Amino acid sequence: MDKRTILVVEDEKALSELLVYALEREGFAAASAGSGTEAANRVRASRPDLILLDLMLPDMSGFDLCRTASREGWNIPIIMLTAKSDMVDKLLGMELGADDYITKPFDVREVVVRIKAVFRRIEQVIGREAAQAPETIALRGDIEIRKAQRLVCREGTKIELKNKEFELLLFFAEHRGIVFTRPQLLNRVWGYDFAGDTRTVDIHVQRLRKKLDKPGEVSVIDTVFAVGYRMP
Ligand code: CA
Repeated sequence: MDKRTILVVEDEKALSELLVYALEREGFAAASAGSGTEAANRVRASRPDLILLDLMLPDMSGFDLCRTASREGWNIPIIMLTAKSDMVDKLLGMELGADDYITKPFDVREVVVRIKAVFRRIEQVIGREAAQAPETIALRGDIEIRKAQRLVCREGTKIELKNKEFELLLFFAEHRGIVFTRPQLLNRVWGYDFAGDTRTVDIHVQRLRKKLDKPGEVSVIDTVFAVGYRMP
């Protein structure tokens, strides 16, 4: 299994280095970002499995980055690092999508324990979802994806899809309503670690539309201007 990747967003260099060191020693792959902007760019280029997010950043607050995460549909667990304990109520109340919070000063071992707990919760959810996952997914009423046979039909007629076209369609179908950037799609569907040629994604989306859309009807995949694509 690939290493889980954790993005440490923290402007205090010594703390950031300590966290990266501790996480790598625990078997995670860790990267760091010293500002909110750098963090957002890193996430768009190569999606981490979890974000450790300092609340006070030089260019924005951790809350702002949470808002960006929810607007762009990152769907990545976030653990907030807060300096003040009185922020905690506010933090939870704001429901900005943080999965957990840790109050500074903290013991790095505590951070590792919390991270592992978040991953365990996610695995439990994924396990439940997989157990309940239907073998057939219906799209837009007339299109059907039969996962086991890797088959797509429209009104009962098989549609020929290339391997990656099928995988891209299935990925969208299993993450409906979530907006993905081109680099994220390259990463998740093609398995590239870093942004390759994002036109690959555009070409595959165009092919899927050509094969699956009917004139005058909404497309099976939405273009989200300046961000990426989504299956509605
Ligand atoms: Ca800070």
